[in-house]
Order: sequence, then C-alpha cells, then structure tokens
Amino acid sequence: MRTFACHRCGQLVFFDNTACLNCRADLGFLWDTRELQTLTAPVAAPDLLAPIEADGNTYVRCHNVSAAACNWLVRDPGSLCFSCSLTRTRPGDDDPGGLAAFAEAESAKRRLMFELGELGLPIVSFREQAGGLVFDLLSSRDAPVTTGHAHGVITLDLAESDEVRRVQRREQLQEAYRTVLGHLRHEIGHYYFPILTADPTALERVRAAFGDERADYNEALERHYQQGPPYAWAERHVSAYATMHPSEDWAETFAHYLHIRDTLQTAASHRVQVLGPETGSRLRPAGNFVSIPGSSSGGFDHYIATWLPLTYALNALNRSMGRDDLYPFVLAGPVQDKLGLVHELVERTAAQSGRAAA
Ligand SMILES: [Zn+2]
Ligand SMILES: [Zn+2]
Ligand SMILES: [Zn+2]
Repeated sequence: MRTFACHRCGQLVFFDNTACLNCRADLGFLWDTRELQTLTAPVAAPDLLAPIEADGNTYVRCHNVSAAACNWLVRDPGSLCFSCSLTRTRPGDDDPGGLAAFAEAESAKRRLMFELGELGLPIVSFREQAGGLVFDLLSSRDAPVTTGHAHGVITLDLAESDEVRRVQRREQLQEAYRTVLGHLRHEIGHYYFPILTADPTALERVRAAFGDERADYNEALERHYQQGPPYAWAERHVSAYATMHPSEDWAETFAHYLHIRDTLQTAASHRVQVLGPETGSRLRPAGNFVSIPGSSSGGFDHYIATWLPLTYALNALNRSMGRDDLYPFVLAGPVQDKLGLVHELVERTAAQSGRAAA
C-alpha cells in the first residue's frame, strides 16, 4: 500500500481514511487514478464533493458509505463504487452480525482491488462480461457456506471475519496464517489462473512447476484430510494446504506473491530499511541482508532479497509485542522459483492489458 498526503495541509493520511485528522478535510478514494482525494463541498452544490485539486468533476460517496464504511467516490448519487459493485450477494439487513462481517470483508476487498490495480492486472466485472469477476459475501448464520472460487465467482464465508472462529479453524486445519485478506488473495489466485496461463507455453511451464491442475480434485481433497500433508512438505510448498492439489499450490503461491508485493510497497512508502542485526563478526549474517525496498524491478530475485531480511525483522518485532510471527512461512528454493514464475506471468499480463502502474 502507498501512503497518501492530505492535499490541503500535507498531513500523512491512509487508504481507509474519510477525513484528515489534522485539518478535518473530507477525504475520498478515486479508483480511476488510485489516489486519495482531499475534497470540498462546492458552494453551489453543497451535497456534492469536489477534489481540491479540481479535475472538473464532482463526486458523492459510494452508496455503501454506511453499510461497508466505504470511502470510495462515485459520479452518480446512489451508485456503488467499482469495488462494491463487484459484490452480488451480501447479508440481509436483519443480520447485524453478518453486516459487521460484510463491512470488514469489503474493507479487505478494497485493499485487494488497490493492489491488483497497482500491479496492472485486468479486472473484468461480471457486469461487463459473462464469467467476469463477482463476489458473494455470505453469512453462514442460516446455512453452511464454503469459501471458494468457480468460473469468476468468489464466495466468502463471512464467519471467517469472526476472530474466534478464524483462530479455531486455524488450529483445526493447522494453518499458521488465516485472515480475510489472505482468503481473498487466495481465491483471486484461482480467478487469475486461466488469465495468466492463456498462452499455451505459459500453461506448460505452470504445469511443470505446480503439477497438472486437471488432476482429480475430490480425490486429492479426501487424501489431504485423511493423511495430512506429505513429510517435509515445506521443501517444495509454501503452505501445508498447497500440497493438496496443483490448483491450491498455485492459489497459495499467488496469495503469497500478493502478500510480498503489497508489504514491500508499504515498507517502501514508509522508507523502511533493514540493515541487519549487530552480531559478533563470526555470526554476522551472510551477505544480502540489507533490505532497501523499492518498486524498481530487477526480476523477482530482487524482491526476495528485499523481502527476507524485512520478514526477519517484522517477525522479531511481533514477538517483542507477544504476538505470533507476522509472516510464519519459509520460502524454500523451489517455492521461490514458483513465485518467480507467478511474477513473470503477472508482469506479462499487466503489460498486455496496458494498465500497469506508471
Ligand atoms: Zn489535512
Ligand atoms: Zn464502495
Ligand atoms: Zn483454493
């Protein structure tokens, strides 16, 4: 995530903010430019909001401003912003628990959309094209819901927003990491699979690295839940769940790719540098310890070289606060190779769709 500044007073402001904490100016996010705008209400039209750095347009807040605490701007009063408009189903107004979880899921989804936009990946809405991207955000209050993806439809069990339930499932499934944003990043990985592997050569390389995604899924699922992950799974897979089926390995790896790119962008925006700990000379960490995050591309090796020292420091900071590791994963060589392939295909697809960030 990038950091933003209030265009009126220069205060540091954040992606989710609706007002500047220093000068109280209204803030709203504009998807077209992916910028947080500082707004005024024009005297002639006090119901509308206009960016201080006028772009000739006036805006109102997204219709989900209360329901989903959405701070995005739209042109037409009563309409939904691009992110909210991708949601087809949401909990009913008589389900307060579901609605609270819905707001949390929408917040994570806006962050996901921002990153996809930054990476330049195409996002085609189900409103534009059959099979386009659509979200069903469902409360499992009345009937069971399974989080997953099929033909452009991402279904999210909103009970995952409930911290207690999420931790319980994390323990049951022996997963070290489970968040709403993590789920969305995993499912969007399934969504992008056919898009990133549309070229036959790309598909061949992905099958060589991850396995054949046409392998029987139900058989794999049953084997995974009966036998658990294979011995020494971390030597080839980013998570235990990734061992279940080639499709899940792809989605887990894709989710990690998004974790890494977003967190590195955040670190770079805040000018975070990790120079490595002071240790005795014999114990000094091996070379490549300096982490200077930047968005400059030097292939995926450059990102990994930046990422690893940063995660060591972030995990150590979390432990000092008595929290679990921020990034409880080990990226073995074969996992780094898979991440590198995802990176290459993301860059290629972004270049082809012509939406890459400047
Ligand atoms: Zn301000
Ligand atoms: Zn919205
Ligand atoms: Zn999956």
